[in-house]
Amino acid sequence: MKVRTRFAPSPTGYLHIGGARTALFSWLYARKHGGEFVLRVEDTDLARSNAESVNAILEGMSWLGLEYDEGPFYQTERFDRYKEVVERLLDEGHAYRCYCTREEVDAMREEQMARKQKPRYDGRCRIRKEPREGVEPVIRFKNPVEGVTTVDDMVRGRVTFQNSELDDLIIARSDGTPTYNLTVVVDDWDMQITHVIRGDDHLNNTPRQINILKALGVEPPRYAHLPMILGPDGAKLSKRHGAVSVMQYRDDGFLPEALINYLVRLGWSHGDQEIFTLDELIELFDIDDVNHSASAINPEKLLWLNQHYIKTLSHDYIARQLSWHMGQRNVDPSGHPPLRDVVDVQRDRAKTLVEMADASLYFYQDFDEYDDKAARKNLKPEAAPVLQALHGALEALAEWEPEPIHLTVGGVAERLELKLGKVAQPLRVAATGGSVSPSIDQTLYLLGRERTLKRIKQAVEWIESQTVDNT
Ligand code: GLU
Repeated sequence: MKVRTRFAPSPTGYLHIGGARTALFSWLYARKHGGEFVLRVEDTDLARSNAESVNAILEGMSWLGLEYDEGPFYQTERFDRYKEVVERLLDEGHAYRCYCTREEVDAMREEQMARKQKPRYDGRCRIRKEPREGVEPVIRFKNPVEGVTTVDDMVRGRVTFQNSELDDLIIARSDGTPTYNLTVVVDDWDMQITHVIRGDDHLNNTPRQINILKALGVEPPRYAHLPMILGPDGAKLSKRHGAVSVMQYRDDGFLPEALINYLVRLGWSHGDQEIFTLDELIELFDIDDVNHSASAINPEKLLWLNQHYIKTLSHDYIARQLSWHMGQRNVDPSGHPPLRDVVDVQRDRAKTLVEMADASLYFYQDFDEYDDKAARKNLKPEAAPVLQALHGALEALAEWEPEPIHLTVGGVAERLELKLGKVAQPLRVAATGGSVSPSIDQTLYLLGRERTLKRIKQAVEWIESQTVDNT
């Protein structure tokens, strides 16, 4: 039997951390077993579903690299099929029309609550069959009234439900549209899903779905319900815990590798190992090793993982990811210097690609203002002759390479009998606008001679303008 898993989001918002983890676990399980991963868009709630959310989900999955083998299938395109199954359940006596009015169901509920009973539909229309004037019936599934339904969950173990606790759920509304439990059952069946991996907020639906499948004579799939994800404060994860949309993590400068590695550890572990390549995950992941208890997000760990991947993945790859961020900052990422060279000098200094992009703008964009503190400290009047000497020496340099640049800057310091810092730091502020950059020789090398000389000149002029202003 070929393993087939699915991810079945409702497009009512972005792809958030919880959804992405569900998708990842389903994807990994399929990949591990040489199976197939299906994407199904559960868009039957017409009022809440929208195309923008569908796109956000597809974008999030593609950014994470969770490619699917089939789909996306849209439930709204399958209404005829759901109708057919509802008809079959009616024909075979597994479902019935319910003519109860809303008032009647409300009154039933109130009476049960007054008697301190759990509110549930009492199944009265199983017997009362005649239509009622002006009432469009809903269709209810005839749930078994006796016995138990056991979910042999791959994460939670055996969970047993009394059938008497499960009332006759509505499978089609009075306008004929099918409800969630019916559509999921039909789809998991038609799409030959063998393993349903989803959040444990669906655990209570599972015995109902199993009972409908049994009524249809279909062997239920295996189920795995994943524990909740909590915020760092232990409360249920919500928007107030910061970035919850997957694409927000991209915008904030995280690599998909870091997020995948982070997500997999929310509920799954393999000894003490923290860092996993995708191939390792496919080999090591198993749904049986998923924790039963909820796991809390840990933003520090995500940063740590991101830093690890920024440092260790190939510079061409990081450059491709960085180029998106540079584009966001109006930098043409194909300009000079090549982004991969920038990655080489910046990768040990940045925890996120946002930090890297922000710290690399001066390689591409000219500026006419300096970091205030850096300028006050380093672009004082006595720095002007130093910068002029550097201009002359660098202009005369035969070869624009890090090593000769390094020697030249050192040579100027020696000639002027200054400590290296007194020369290099004004030069750095002149070249970059601030006091932080990679080594001065690397920085100037990447900047190129023309830009370097122009910026030294600009800094001298700036110092002179300050002196004039102050007199
Ligand atoms: N569409 C459901 C949701 O987004 C998931 C249904 C399922 O996985 O069975 O919560």
